[in-house]
Amino acid sequence: MARRAIGLARFALRVRGIHDSKISIADAKRLISEGVHNRATRFLTKLEVAAYSNPKSPYLKLLMAAGYQLGDVENLVESQGLEGTLRSLADSGVYLTYDEFKCRTPTIRGSQTFRFSPSDFDDPNMFAESYGSSGGTGGDSVETKYASETVYQFTPHWALFLAENDCLRKPLSFWGPQSSGASSRQLACSRFNQPLGPCFVSEELTDFTERFYHGTKRLIAERVGDFPRPESAPYGQESIVLAKVGEVLARNGGMCLNVAPSAAVRISLAAQRRGINLEDLTFLLGGEPLTQARRRAIEASGAIARPLYGSSEASWIGGQCSHPEHPDEVHLLEDNYAVIPARPVESHNGGPVPLLMTSLQRVTSKILLNTDIGDLAILDSRSCSCLYGQVGCSRVLHTIRSSDKITDFGVNFAVADVCQVLEAALPCRVGGTAGDYQLVEERHSSGLPSYNLRISPRLPDVDCEEVVRVFFEELSKPRTYYAYMVNTWRRAAVFKCFVGEPLATRAGKMLPFYRPGFAFKPSLRPNRVASKWLKRW
Ligand SMILES: [Zn+2]
Repeated sequence: MARRAIGLARFALRVRGIHDSKISIADAKRLISEGVHNRATRFLTKLEVAAYSNPKSPYLKLLMAAGYQLGDVENLVESQGLEGTLRSLADSGVYLTYDEFKCRTPTIRGSQTFRFSPSDFDDPNMFAESYGSSGGTGGDSVETKYASETVYQFTPHWALFLAENDCLRKPLSFWGPQSSGASSRQLACSRFNQPLGPCFVSEELTDFTERFYHGTKRLIAERVGDFPRPESAPYGQESIVLAKVGEVLARNGGMCLNVAPSAAVRISLAAQRRGINLEDLTFLLGGEPLTQARRRAIEASGAIARPLYGSSEASWIGGQCSHPEHPDEVHLLEDNYAVIPARPVESHNGGPVPLLMTSLQRVTSKILLNTDIGDLAILDSRSCSCLYGQVGCSRVLHTIRSSDKITDFGVNFAVADVCQVLEAALPCRVGGTAGDYQLVEERHSSGLPSYNLRISPRLPDVDCEEVVRVFFEELSKPRTYYAYMVNTWRRAAVFKCFVGEPLATRAGKMLPFYRPGFAFKPSLRPNRVASKWLKRW
């Protein structure tokens, strides 16, 4: 509580300065371009401060185990460039797998075994003013921290993304779970005078302390900017958002809405059911993968889908330009990150590979040095005449998916394959669309899992037995050994199917595959007086 109170006080002191430090699009381009030009220097500075001068750093231990002093790394950068240096470091054991980064397994290099904790990865440059938690398919919720400086850092990336996608003069709205993230984004966008549209909250925090904290931060931000008050619009009630979107479109002729792809799919489906064309709406999509199936469902409404790529531990990894070559292609923000494939690309037959990510910004939520953040992607490079190409960001990532696996009873399904069946194969064969099917993993006190296949109540006359039959049939196809594993699941009798709305993660994501631990659960049930008071936040 004390550190959060201090964080809020610091934010209150700084918020006016952030809001009033205006930048132009030309400034944003220049700042990113300079960052790309100086990325090797940024890397070495970050390495010196966050690893070599930080005795807690897991990366310092790995560097020492591999025999690298700072001068050795400087020489490598001089002779091999940044990506060459990172490759050499990775080949010498200076990297972390996703499970090592999440502290699920010890890190073993040669004869040495290291046991890290999540806070070991915190950036010593960061004095946290606000807090959030990661949420994904992985099952581990880790606190992440934010400071005012990160708002300064990501403002140019928002400006470039909106400018490239012709959204600068269009009202920008947000729809997502209650958090301090929307306030930070509004604050960043106010620095380049982006008009702001209505803001919607899908899930209100149930923990009193969290709600008070985020509400206070929002009120502090509102004191300096004309930020719209959030309106309640739970997932499942997308008609509330759609009605407001219709009003803004009628008044302004265009708008952009920052949401998760699953929420965008719901709005698009609601619009199609009502015969509303969303051709003047641009969805700015983050937080979940934008699969081909989701993109198709969104674009069927006439809306434009533009993904940005980032995670709680690594914000603003990339943004899509206005002429992508793949549905989810993003330009890597090379001033922010350096990325290399974890293993030689040839071993994956041209498919997505695990990525090793290195953060270059001065202040980051988590320090990353050749760190696998749990995603696979195809890493490529191409010349592009867009704004990203103009500032030197020629590397692109596409076919981005989670590297997580479902492993029980000796089976080993890639979550990405399961999601493909849920989002594409099932809708194609038994009806519905992406977002109508969700597989929920439950873990019992015995440690054994069970799996519930939830089918959206939107779908009429659902035959659960038929859905399960098709699900197993399709899940047998992606890899030859899946057929054997599907039979194992069948025999273990751990699979149930019923009609129910999809569950949201703690971060408000509506993922096709869901692990518990992220659901919004009341951790404190407020009494009647507190409930009344809470409505003000
Ligand atoms: Zn481009």
